[in-house]
Amino acid sequence: MATCNICGGETFVAGFLGRMSFGLPPVCGGCGSSERHRIVRRLFEAIRPIAAPWRVLQFAPDMSVDATWFASYQFSIYGGANSLDMMNTGLEAGSFDLVLSNHVLEHVPDDFSALREMLRLVGPSGLVALTAPTPLFRWESVDWGFADEKKNMHFRDYGADFPSLVVEKIPNARVLVAIGRDEATGLHDHVWFISLDPEPLRALAHPWQRMGIPLVYVRAGA
Ligand SMILES: [Zn+2]
Repeated sequence: MATCNICGGETFVAGFLGRMSFGLPPVCGGCGSSERHRIVRRLFEAIRPIAAPWRVLQFAPDMSVDATWFASYQFSIYGGANSLDMMNTGLEAGSFDLVLSNHVLEHVPDDFSALREMLRLVGPSGLVALTAPTPLFRWESVDWGFADEKKNMHFRDYGADFPSLVVEKIPNARVLVAIGRDEATGLHDHVWFISLDPEPLRALAHPWQRMGIPLVYVRAGA
């Protein structure tokens, strides 16, 4: 039987509008987490010793991490508490070691301005961690240039090409793609860790390799 790695719950129920995942109920009856929360959570739990000294900023806090794991933790809620403009936060460069955002970038008008801003906030050796809806469902990202009401106000759909776009558009950027798997449903998802410095990515890769997490390294060609 599958166990929720967030609350230890063993019952799972259908998601919003009866959503199932490979025929299995994806939402934890205990804590309400979905597959994507549990996938990101498992990756972060494995790197807690590394992450303990980090100063963290999360856009749209969720169950994927616990604020107490880090030396400091701030969050931004769109239109709510501490709301920051992801494309221009007004915060000092190098203020954080990690900026984390799950399922936010598809809502931002200019996603690469936002990514450059997040990389500025973490400085030359910091990390940006991102997830977006279902990049494994399509090869190519598609940007239609406006917040589409029919698509949850998304500006675009990300595809499996996102890491390639990052290294193409941002000089010296490297992307470590961690391929997480949700125990309850068997769903796989990509979690993108981006840095201008290969060393912090290498440090994360070690514990994940020991757990058997598949990893893909993406950098621009010489
Ligand atoms: Zn749970």
